[in-house]
Amino acid sequence: MIPMVNLKAQYAEIKDEVEQGLAETIENCSFILGPNVQAFEQETAAYLGVKHAIGVASGTDALHLALLAEGIGQGDEVITTAFTFIATAEAIKYVGAIPVFVDIDPKTFNISPEAIEKAITTKTKAVMPVHLFGQPADMDKIAQICQAHNLKLIEDCCQSFGASINGKQTGAFGNAAGFSFFPSKNLGAFGDGGLVVTDSDETAAKIRQLRNHGSDVRYYHDVIGYNSRLDEMQAVILRAKLKRIDQYNQARRRVAQLYSGLMADLPLATPFEDGLGVHVYHQYTLLSERRDEILKALQAEHIGCAVYYPVPLHQQNVFKQECAGLSLSVTESVAARCFSLPICPFLSDDDTRKIVAVIRGVFASS
Ligand SMILES: *Cc1c(COP(=O)(O)O)cnc(C)c1O
Repeated sequence: MIPMVNLKAQYAEIKDEVEQGLAETIENCSFILGPNVQAFEQETAAYLGVKHAIGVASGTDALHLALLAEGIGQGDEVITTAFTFIATAEAIKYVGAIPVFVDIDPKTFNISPEAIEKAITTKTKAVMPVHLFGQPADMDKIAQICQAHNLKLIEDCCQSFGASINGKQTGAFGNAAGFSFFPSKNLGAFGDGGLVVTDSDETAAKIRQLRNHGSDVRYYHDVIGYNSRLDEMQAVILRAKLKRIDQYNQARRRVAQLYSGLMADLPLATPFEDGLGVHVYHQYTLLSERRDEILKALQAEHIGCAVYYPVPLHQQNVFKQECAGLSLSVTESVAARCFSLPICPFLSDDDTRKIVAVIRGVFASS
């Protein structure tokens, strides 16, 4: 059996450090917004090259609070991609805004800057790109469009912790950005967690208030806020993994390179790196007309595989009505052919070869 992500192997490496940190937290009883959350916020701000990092309860909350703090609200249009996890659009709906889905680049699967520009109306207030599967979106072009049209730029970095463009980290390009620490993400907790980053003092202050019941001073409340704090125990785990994140991401890139080399002669599209930034391979996602046969063959060998994402957001039941008549041809064609293979820092070369051999078998059998 080869899982999509081998979290067990990763834990073995950080076990001592994590257990000591958790034991200390339990002894100190500093469970809410304690010293580890504070330290993690400083460490991630330094790592990502941003002024402020604020720990919150999930990636979904990070995006929601980022939009709120940037003043996106009722009736505002937010241009985003339909080829993403639902949470990108949920966050937009939570603030009463309207997600405007536009098409993607056929090779990187990231939002198309040209499509963004065409979708701008007088109601457009923000653009929310997703650095999908760990590859940075074309932030130079997207930031330029936002500047020219006076739009807020909110990055969905839930899959891109550690990805960068010319040394600048994803999350450092926009007015604000949201990260997720869902266990399977490149930087994953042992439960839910998230982070908002921003260079704006004002946005940071608003997020700190919003995540903690609209309060700066205990029992004094200025706005209706939320209970959305990064958990102290999760911060212990995240600090241990943050120290190793570059090593983890490099190992993912190595696995991806091996995969792509081994499959270079097969009639399928291995991940395309556009060369604009450093891809951190949250997912290793390919395209094939014979996807369903490949998935069946992998499942028969107990090899993890998945389709991210089988149904684009504009075709989901929840958005079908609101998006009636919208057709996104590239998105739809990619969703019909994409599939993802196991990838994580602990996937061995042997297992990588084994997976490729199964895929090769599908093409050999006809
Ligand atoms: C994981 C993910 C989220 C949501 O993060 P949670 O921590 O699970 O709430 C949002 N957007 C994208 C693109 C994601 O992959």
